[in-house]
Amino acid sequence: MVTEMKYKIALVPGDGIGPEITGAAVEALKAVADRFGCEFEFNTYLAGGCALDEYGVPLPQETIDGCLASDSVLLGAVGGPKWDDVPNNMRPEKALLGLRKELGLYTNLRPASIQPALAEACVLRPDIAAKGFDLMIVRELTGGIYFGERGRNEAGDAAYDTEAYSVMEIERVARRAFETARKRKSHVTSVDKANVLETSRLWRETVHRLGASEYPDVRLDDMYVDNAAMQIIRDPSFFDVLVTSNMFGDILSDEASQVTGSIGLLASASLGDSSRGLYEPIHGSAPDIAGKDIANPIAAILSAAMMLRYSFDLAKEADAIEKAVANVLADGLRTADIKAPGQEDWIKGSEMKAAILEKLRKN
Ligand code: NAD
Repeated sequence: MVTEMKYKIALVPGDGIGPEITGAAVEALKAVADRFGCEFEFNTYLAGGCALDEYGVPLPQETIDGCLASDSVLLGAVGGPKWDDVPNNMRPEKALLGLRKELGLYTNLRPASIQPALAEACVLRPDIAAKGFDLMIVRELTGGIYFGERGRNEAGDAAYDTEAYSVMEIERVARRAFETARKRKSHVTSVDKANVLETSRLWRETVHRLGASEYPDVRLDDMYVDNAAMQIIRDPSFFDVLVTSNMFGDILSDEASQVTGSIGLLASASLGDSSRGLYEPIHGSAPDIAGKDIANPIAAILSAAMMLRYSFDLAKEADAIEKAVANVLADGLRTADIKAPGQEDWIKGSEMKAAILEKLRKN
């Protein structure tokens, strides 16, 4: 077969369950390559605790260079009790911040959807869960109050943190939200606190100006963050894409992930100006289950699907992975983390992977 599409992927498995779940994602990508005739080249790099053991630093230059030379990056997770006592600047988690910085990633995309087959795992009222939802939180990642000026007075009994945003910072994340919405249901909800905060007023003005001039085809509305926090629980089916600041996005994305039922299912992407992104499950390295073949590989496999969609523009290939996952869940297959209370016939991580690969090859 003539292959026209060739993509170089940097694999950063990390620690704990990272190697198991990224291994499953690689197999899913290989199955996609066989079926659709695209080609993926994988190069593996160390980051996190394993890099600390091997190179003495959590993010070696070789890893940075390898990621920069790739079309995209697939990461497992980093960290674990073995490295709990290392100095702060050597902590495995520093590798994540370092990679985002080196790759110029300033937007985080976190989908949260309810798999129809898993509606019973959703913590929402059954009538709300039954309506289903599929939302995407687009969060600004490198600005706002987490990076603003902060301090204490001399006595140490008063402190401040500063929220600051420029038009440029707002525009670039808003642009990503509009572009993302065009690949979904063309609806953006901009979340702010414009009734109180000046940065939010600038946020709102900027998002609307950009929407009107460049994305008139995308429906745009605004919501105060307190209301958004309520609506994610009351009527999540209202949302398609939410775009918001660093701190609001941090809080809302965790809220949205919890209502879905399992962190073993949720993927994420960090993106910048180029098409290169960093894709990873939202969960950590789960040292408590590492090496036991019980980790759910779905979040990592869905992260690979996000890579296909958002970095490589391979929509039908991404759809195929997402459909394979939905189908195994519809067949009733469950790993330990998503089994029903009292369910005995749950399967191992490797069995879940095999079932997804089989669907992917057949459908
Ligand atoms: P965690 O997400 O690793 O685990 C929380 C719980 O969820 C555990 O009980 C774990 O067994 C379970 N779990 C997680 N992923 C699962 C999966 N795929 N299948 C089944 N069960 C799964 O969070 P934690 O325990 O707070 O952190 C463990 C380590 O991971 C720490 O060192 C932490 O710093 C690190 N961490 C890394 C990242 C990252 O790399 N992005 C994110 C969060 C935490």
